[in-house]
Amino acid sequence: MKFQATNVLLRGRHRAFRCRLPYARLAALMLGGVSLFLAVATGRAADVQNSQKTLQGTLLFIEGKGPVLKNGAKQVTLAGRYEYTFRTLEDKRLRNDEVRLVGKFQPDGNFRVDDVFTIHHGEVYRVRYYCETCNIVGLGPGKCVCCQQPTELQEVPVNKNDKKILITH
Ligand SMILES: [Zn+2]
Repeated sequence: MKFQATNVLLRGRHRAFRCRLPYARLAALMLGGVSLFLAVATGRAADVQNSQKTLQGTLLFIEGKGPVLKNGAKQVTLAGRYEYTFRTLEDKRLRNDEVRLVGKFQPDGNFRVDDVFTIHHGEVYRVRYYCETCNIVGLGPGKCVCCQQPTELQEVPVNKNDKKILITH
């Protein structure tokens, strides 16, 4: 409790504050390793699978159906490749946004999403969940693995030199 109270006090005032707990650092490192692995794995998958597609439209949430991508009269029901991808698609803050989704159609007709991007004024943004206190990025919405405070949803303009980003046109 003492740690949390201090933490709250420091938030916003001292942006350079970092979690000093060894397990937290380890968790952050592991998380980084996992994202890197996923990026590499996704990149390889894209090379060998021509079935990966990019869809663009409005992200909606329909009761009983879950997250749906709407483009004109077309509606595609969405599934996430990973649990955190699905939670991102369910994120209320992204609802009704224009999004670009990279993924694959499943035999049941659902679109399984690998990567989520948002579009604002024609500009593509990567979606991430960031903890300012610990300076680490989580995989999906929820609490920070380090300090357990809620993470912040951020949309970062896609850097064309960033090879980890997969965009097909
Ligand atoms: Zn944190």
